[in-house]
Amino acid sequence: MSDLRSKYRLERDKRLRSDGNAQYIEPTGRFAHFLDDPYVPKVEREPLTDDVTFAFIGGGFAGLVTSARVKQAGIDDVRIIEGGGDVGGAWYWNRYPGAMCDTAAMVYLPLLEETGHMPTKKYVYAPEIFGQAKRIATTFGLYDKAVFSTAVTSLTWDDDRSRWVIRTDRGDAMTAKFVAMGTGPLHRPKLPGIEGIDSFGGHCFHTSRWDYAYTGGSYEGAPMTNLAGKRVGIIGTGATAVQCIPALGRDAGELFVFQRTPSSIDVRSNHDTDPDWFASLQPGWQREWLMNFVTLQTGGYAEEDLVKDGWTDITKRILQRMSEMFKDGMPDGMSLQEAFLKAYQDSDDEKMDEIRARVDAVVHDPATAEALKPWYRQLCKRPCFHDEYLQTYNRPNVHLIDTNGKGVERIDETGIWVGGVHHELDCIIFASGFEVGTTYARRAGFETYGRDGVALGDYWAEGMRSKHGMHVHGFPNLFVVAPSQAANLISNVTHNFGEAGSTIAAVVRHAIEVGADEVEVTRDAEDAWVALLEQNQRGLRADPDCTPGYYNNEGLPVGRKEQLNGAGYPEGPVAYFNYIDAWRNSGEFEGVAFR
Ligand code: NDP
Repeated sequence: MSDLRSKYRLERDKRLRSDGNAQYIEPTGRFAHFLDDPYVPKVEREPLTDDVTFAFIGGGFAGLVTSARVKQAGIDDVRIIEGGGDVGGAWYWNRYPGAMCDTAAMVYLPLLEETGHMPTKKYVYAPEIFGQAKRIATTFGLYDKAVFSTAVTSLTWDDDRSRWVIRTDRGDAMTAKFVAMGTGPLHRPKLPGIEGIDSFGGHCFHTSRWDYAYTGGSYEGAPMTNLAGKRVGIIGTGATAVQCIPALGRDAGELFVFQRTPSSIDVRSNHDTDPDWFASLQPGWQREWLMNFVTLQTGGYAEEDLVKDGWTDITKRILQRMSEMFKDGMPDGMSLQEAFLKAYQDSDDEKMDEIRARVDAVVHDPATAEALKPWYRQLCKRPCFHDEYLQTYNRPNVHLIDTNGKGVERIDETGIWVGGVHHELDCIIFASGFEVGTTYARRAGFETYGRDGVALGDYWAEGMRSKHGMHVHGFPNLFVVAPSQAANLISNVTHNFGEAGSTIAAVVRHAIEVGADEVEVTRDAEDAWVALLEQNQRGLRADPDCTPGYYNNEGLPVGRKEQLNGAGYPEGPVAYFNYIDAWRNSGEFEGVAFR
């Protein structure tokens, strides 16, 4: 085994733990307020008992895009039900300083042509993304019937009326003929189950509810002046922490970054959008960009790389290597699949070497630089792109407290212990992420009861079952919007939502045209879809070259259940998008019964 592979395994083994997802705790007790809405006060209103044709649970991009497409299909009474005080989902809740999207705005921001918005930069900041969510809601009249600050408590199918009954924490018992839900997955904040976490006497908050009342400043970028004399600790160095640490380093008196595993930090190279260039794009450009990005991001070939970034770069390297390998014919004894995997591994090793070299080039202190180097393959964790993060460690007030893969040892009333050393703190910020491996109902915050009172949680107890990740047998007129069991495109989640939205709109339109009361996937069709996914598994997998994280079940073995929950279309996202486009446009809706 090469030195690099041995090093990867060493770093993984150091971090493996038997408790996997169970190492995390829910924000309850003294942390219960971490789930509160700090932005919009809850205003009392009368409970609703009215009926709509189409309801969407969740006001993030999944809900917005789907509801927009349903409206475009001529269904006017559409209601979004959302726990937050406005639309936006992740972009409503996450207002930490420096928040932005790592995926280029031209492909990440949905419905740019329909709303007429020009992204101001190649990668845009959270306020602009939240702005686009609000713009979609306004453009498509989605605010008219929407209800906010309303948490669904149960969703129950009423067979006699062919209606879904939606109960909420406002005492509502609304009904809807069709319901779709896009409730995550990265939605519920989680906390590290560190010994003594309850005992900290200073201030603390989770990044998804940034406490500007404590820090000062604003999410539009105003400096957090209240932190000037403070000793601030942040636990976690994932995608969120990477974005907020530069602002914390700038504003905090002293900043202590508690690191278990470093993220990979590739070049960002952000720039403003040229309005003349943007104006010259031809109608239909966004679909072309979306398909170009997903093609290049998933190992396919395209004449031109429109997005040109760290996501598409890896594929270009793989293809270059493949063409070198094949220039004198097929390498001896190697299948195409083996050649691809070799080209992929070599390209990945090269890319990660560059990322590690960049740390040395940027970070002055050699020990700090060494600790900031990621030793795993790039897609083991969410790849990060930033041009200020590594630089922040050159500030004299910023201290990297590396835990050698073990995590924070203990928290006490006055601070954090690592390696027997106590770090006194005024404030702890938890950049510890969101629940991923837990059940759908727990993450959504409510249970769904289908025909004969069957709970979706029970139906999925041994793993998710669906057709297209969207239709579930026994749950008529219900649509689930999530990447799993469909394209499962992680680099651009909104692309998954766009395709789901168009598909749901087509199904609902067809149901109305043929006068169907119920739409339901047949058991056979669902079985066949699950069998297809299992035939050639693509999705979650244990990889000896990966340190643990939520992309690989925290390093624990991936069983059938986890595999199903994280499954993707066997031939990959591009094939799925082509397949689903043909499925919804054929007018046949194969596998789905209209009654
Ligand atoms: P993550 O789950 O990615 O990161 C949590 C961090 O907490 C990790 O660094 C983890 O370390 C660390 N941690 C957990 N327990 C301990 C402990 N006991 N001691 C020390 N450290 C600990 O959460 P994020 O909020 O950063 O990101 C979640 C997801 O949100 C991303 O994966 C991405 O999908 C999305 N996101 C996307 C962005 C974008 O630009 N598109 C920006 C921000 C977030 P370890 O790695 O060892 O587990």
